Amino acid sequence: MEVITTHTTADFDSLASMLAAKKLYPDALLVFPGSQERSLRDFFIHSTLYAFEVERIKNINLRDVERLILVDTRQQSRIGKFAEIVGPDVDIHIYDHHLPSSEDIHGSLEVISEVGATVTLLVNIIRERGVEITPDEATVMMLGLYEDTGNLSFSSVTEEDFKAAGYLLRKGADLNVISNMITRELTAEQVFLLNDLIQSATRYHIHGIEVVIAQASADHYIGDIAVLAHKLKDMENLDVLFVLVLMEDRVHLIGRSRIDEVNAAEIAAEFGGGGHPTASSATIRGMTLLVAHDRLVKLLQEMVRPRRTARDLMVYPVKVISADCPIEEAGEILTRYNLTGLPVVQGEKVAGVISKQIVERAIHHGLKTSPVKEYMSTEFATVGPETPFSRIQELMIGQNQRLVPVLESDHLVGTISLGNLMGVLQEDMMRSVKGAAALESQPLYARKKMISKLIQERLPDRIQSLLMEFGKVGDELGFSVHAVGGFVRDLLMRVENFDVDIVVEGDGIQFAEEFEKRVPCRIRTHRKFGTAIILFPDGSKVDVATARLEVYDSPAALPTVESGSIKMDLYRRDFTINALAFQLNPRGFGELTDFFGGIKDIKERVIRVLHNLSFVEDPTRVFRAIRFEQRLGFQIAKHTQNLMRNAVKMGFAARLSGGRVLAELILILQEDDPVSAVKRMRDFDLLRFLHPNLKFTEETEALFERIHHVLSWFDYLFLEEEYERWLIYFYGLIDLLKEEEVAEVCQRLSMNEKEKTRIIEGKKQAEQILLQVFAWISSDYTPKRSEIYTVLGALSTETKLFMMAKTTQMATRRYISLYFTQLKDAKPLLKGADLIRLGIQPGPAIKRNLANLLKARLDEQLMTREDEMAFLVRSLEMSNGRT
Ligand code: ATP
Ligand code: MG
Repeated sequence: MEVITTHTTADFDSLASMLAAKKLYPDALLVFPGSQERSLRDFFIHSTLYAFEVERIKNINLRDVERLILVDTRQQSRIGKFAEIVGPDVDIHIYDHHLPSSEDIHGSLEVISEVGATVTLLVNIIRERGVEITPDEATVMMLGLYEDTGNLSFSSVTEEDFKAAGYLLRKGADLNVISNMITRELTAEQVFLLNDLIQSATRYHIHGIEVVIAQASADHYIGDIAVLAHKLKDMENLDVLFVLVLMEDRVHLIGRSRIDEVNAAEIAAEFGGGGHPTASSATIRGMTLLVAHDRLVKLLQEMVRPRRTARDLMVYPVKVISADCPIEEAGEILTRYNLTGLPVVQGEKVAGVISKQIVERAIHHGLKTSPVKEYMSTEFATVGPETPFSRIQELMIGQNQRLVPVLESDHLVGTISLGNLMGVLQEDMMRSVKGAAALESQPLYARKKMISKLIQERLPDRIQSLLMEFGKVGDELGFSVHAVGGFVRDLLMRVENFDVDIVVEGDGIQFAEEFEKRVPCRIRTHRKFGTAIILFPDGSKVDVATARLEVYDSPAALPTVESGSIKMDLYRRDFTINALAFQLNPRGFGELTDFFGGIKDIKERVIRVLHNLSFVEDPTRVFRAIRFEQRLGFQIAKHTQNLMRNAVKMGFAARLSGGRVLAELILILQEDDPVSAVKRMRDFDLLRFLHPNLKFTEETEALFERIHHVLSWFDYLFLEEEYERWLIYFYGLIDLLKEEEVAEVCQRLSMNEKEKTRIIEGKKQAEQILLQVFAWISSDYTPKRSEIYTVLGALSTETKLFMMAKTTQMATRRYISLYFTQLKDAKPLLKGADLIRLGIQPGPAIKRNLANLLKARLDEQLMTREDEMAFLVRSLEMSNGRT
């Protein structure tokens, strides 16, 4: 007998897949492993397609099954009674689109691929083999395809799904029937949201209970999220599901539980909501999604009632001692196995228990040859494997019984010692202390995002091989290595940035030292922070940071190493878009880590902090948020903006050193076009924080625009003239302040004397020289070129460029432009040595004569070498004439 089956609580995809499989295995019986979902039953009753036959499982003899065809699942636990016959005697064929799991069944034929719906796999085979299908059959198959792919809109959809859909349409699938059938159709927005929920769904194991948490966000209110939660729960057949959706500035919580261990209403109540133990909801204000999520996990850890019984606590195989053995022998066993007590047996029966304490005391009193039965305690309780934890706790702590035998139909199957109990209690405590970060969790749809292709396409070979080398060194040392931060963000945004930052899970310094042995480079290490800088001969560098492995002892067994440290490292970062990482070790090269929704925020162009205390932790992030927002053309998320305003309001000034503010300000002014960022600083009241009288007026804005213009022009000249871009904008920013006020700003920014002088003097000079030039212009005086040279040559490049932007006079701009393009680099053709040959005394006379030459050259009196010689001879004659 051949049987086609699917998972319990079948859905449209599994039904469609069964039907499609029947086309490939015409002799096989269709059998559901359990009861069908309600909607599916409705479908059977109401649809016109009630034609195909389904056999009931109770009507078939499982032993007759020779071949089992599994569609839409390969998990042993999901196929009901059929799990019993999985084994060498049954040939198994599998068609499935789910991700692998630890309990996967294997078959002699496996058609497994991560397409949007399982039916796709089968339809494509039907098409290839040219098997005929009727329009009705095509309709049912299309229905499955549509439902599992959110009408072909989920991100899990592949080209194969479209091919299959195209084929089904050609075969006459009736889209009208389908749209009637997919009851309670979701809106496009809901489909998006559901898709995000699916992507984010993460499985947690909390005190042995599986809880799934899914989260998503939407810009505006989307109705019926409870329906989405319900759908997600059904799709995956989940016992406990919590959904968090951020809409506008609130987080909506939906809880669903069908087990006693989790009371959804109690959890929702903690967030100010309520409901039933099985279904609840809450609306949460003033929390980010991440904070709400972490709080939820913490609450679950506190409030989920562990499903723990004696079976989970007991130790086996059991060491026992016979009642007739001498005390001495009991002592040996206790010592050898480091036990605190032993059950005492008489034949098959447990007759008592004896503790190490008693044994030792008996030996001390010279009773080592007496039989154990004389000193064992016979008043003791036993438990069964299913006895709940609370009862055991009561026995051991409440009634002081230090060893509890566990019996199963009168057989000794295990013992629980006080140590075992304490271990478990301690584990619980550690869990709640360590909190969410270290919690074991895994994405429900562990679709790992690989960006190897992007790496290949976007990064130069040099960087690629560098990254791979990092991975190899990591492997060698047993460290996991990730690229992180702005480099990853920019790669994903396809912005050029080869500033590589890496994080090593282990020891960054050891890593850098090992790297140095293999690749020509130098390293600088910073032991205190576990960081290193790798400097390459071409001048590029890579920053290496350490994410320490957190090692702690798991009380039950061996010391355990917690490998969640990259998560902790990323959690300390500023914004979700900067908290992305990808793996460099060869095995997972290019695998993206996105714990905090960074990808989504890049897509939606949002700057978002990871938690509510972010700005409190590091107020410079206020400036960083603005800088990234303006540079990337993103938007700071609403809640993040509120947190920023709060930070500013609550005197974040006090905790920021001037130096750090200056560094941030410089970065902002160093950006390509800082106008919008400075305006944003004004909006967030940050300018006042530099100085109460500092304003960004329309006038300043116009000045900034002109600076931008001047700098573009200047950069375009390609002069090899280094200048500090930020300083020119800084002059612009403080342009309207008085000198004392400027001094106060410098003070606020903890500038040293030299910097302070540069600012104050530069501003003063600019004003003076502008006045002087203005005097020339208004008196119709045309300065000589050498005069311009002397006047402007005394100023720094930054001051000159600032003047050029500040002036409204064309002529002034022309003079400065003339200076940069023609005067600045002018030199006499003759050198000192030439002058000596002409008979000029070495010493100050040389310098003086060279200066005169330059002046005459600037004023265009001299062109050739001969001109210069003649000029010198003439001036020598004149001075000789004078003496
Ligand atoms: P840029 O392109 O301006 O260099 P970046 O994102 O690389 O942007 P860096 O200042 O070079 O920024 O910092 C590198 C990474 O370090 C950031 O991406 C971020 O993950 C982290 N980081 C930097 N400063 C902070 C901060 N103040 N708080 C938290 N994380 C920070
Ligand atoms: Mg950087």
